[in-house]
Amino acid sequence: MSALSELKFSVLGSGSAGNCVYVQGGGVSILVDAGLSARETQSRLQSLGVNPAQIDLVLLTHEHGDHAHHAGRLSRAFDCPLAATEGTFRETEKWLKGDEERILVKAGQSFSFGGLEIHPVAKPHDGREPVAYLLGQAGLEVGVFTDLGHVDAVVGEAMRRCSAMVFEANHDPRLLAAGPYPPSLKARVGGRLGHLSNEDSAAALRRYAGPGLREVVLAHLSTTNNTTALAKAASLRVLGEAPGYIRRFSLQEKPSPLLRVALGD
Ligand SMILES: [Zn+2]
Ligand SMILES: [Zn+2]
Repeated sequence: MSALSELKFSVLGSGSAGNCVYVQGGGVSILVDAGLSARETQSRLQSLGVNPAQIDLVLLTHEHGDHAHHAGRLSRAFDCPLAATEGTFRETEKWLKGDEERILVKAGQSFSFGGLEIHPVAKPHDGREPVAYLLGQAGLEVGVFTDLGHVDAVVGEAMRRCSAMVFEANHDPRLLAAGPYPPSLKARVGGRLGHLSNEDSAAALRRYAGPGLREVVLAHLSTTNNTTALAKAASLRVLGEAPGYIRRFSLQEKPSPLLRVALGD
């Protein structure tokens, strides 16, 4: 396999109304998660100058609707396989027709797809068998890490390898506590298998950012319990003005720019 020289990626949309990340490199184009409708996914790809017909694979991180609801439709729209853990497939069955081509993945077991290595990483979240993903090759990898109740050593070690990361900053704890969610949902979101707060997200980046990290796109910001300004303020407080990489914030309603990381940057 020839060495991978660059990766491009964009967060097409992120938040509890739907998540999807586009990653391109090694001759293949991949979507991580299927939380946006086929039509919306196609139009957001086109807005970046990407031809939707070139999508080769949809990876699912877990079965929650904001990640998997459109899995079957995307597989048909793009005529491509779905890849997920056994637990995720089991819980996603309700959104599949059954004729989709499937690739079964297992946390900790890398596999090759085109010129990319894909590495599923077990993560603490209240799905059946949830994973984060690293995509690339050693020395040039983009990681997609959302829906993390907390960051454990396995996730931290995966973060350290990344040249770029899509990383969760879900909520501001004060907004969550004072907000409209029922107590059980507040406990779930803020719990060890829920979502990362702005502060915990920034602290994890401080602890686990590796020397090769160039780009971080903060993602899955809650529209009820967070704002970009609060996420940014927490990040500045914990990491300062110049953390050593570019810090960006994704939105629910429109894609981030098409970002590029390359060997030797
Ligand atoms: Zn989730
Ligand atoms: Zn989610």
